[in-house]
Amino acid sequence: MVRVRPTPKGLPPELLVDGIPVHSKCATCLPAQCCHYVALETDKPTSKADFEDLLWFVAHDGVSVYVDEGSWYVQFETRCSFLAANNLCQAYDRRPRICVEYHPDECDRDEPAGYDHHFHTFDELYAYARKRFKRFATTGEKEARKRKKALARRRKIRV
Ligand code: SF4
Ligand code: SF4
Repeated sequence: MVRVRPTPKGLPPELLVDGIPVHSKCATCLPAQCCHYVALETDKPTSKADFEDLLWFVAHDGVSVYVDEGSWYVQFETRCSFLAANNLCQAYDRRPRICVEYHPDECDRDEPAGYDHHFHTFDELYAYARKRFKRFATTGEKEARKRKKALARRRKIRV
């Protein structure tokens, strides 16, 4: 259920920020949560190779993978270049559809993401992949095993 909180307790619906009327939720949302990330839907991973590709994403700082109602997304924490120091959108009259359609009556501030899964780190997603596939191993791990075996064989030959 979506919990709608149209305005913070005790505040009028609109506040003046630098002389501009702003929804009081946004005026007190410092810094604006919804202007600090982008998320892209990605194919649901079904193979070990798919998981390895997602592991590459989450190995990077500020990149996470989440699952929402069965759909998979890659999220990048990144501040929109149009968000000014006063928390206002510098491109308000040019802002894209996704921003126009996003409304504070029902937004990130109300509903801290309750995803099915949210993998913030390589290790979190790796552990999940290991549950999905008994013998999950990254290509790097497989290479390392081969290298160790070859080294062990060479040592035996020398003896
Ligand atoms: S729409 Fe919601 S998340 Fe975005 S700035 Fe306003 S209160 Fe914050
Ligand atoms: S264009 Fe404006 S409203 Fe849209 S994400 Fe950037 S700062 Fe936020």
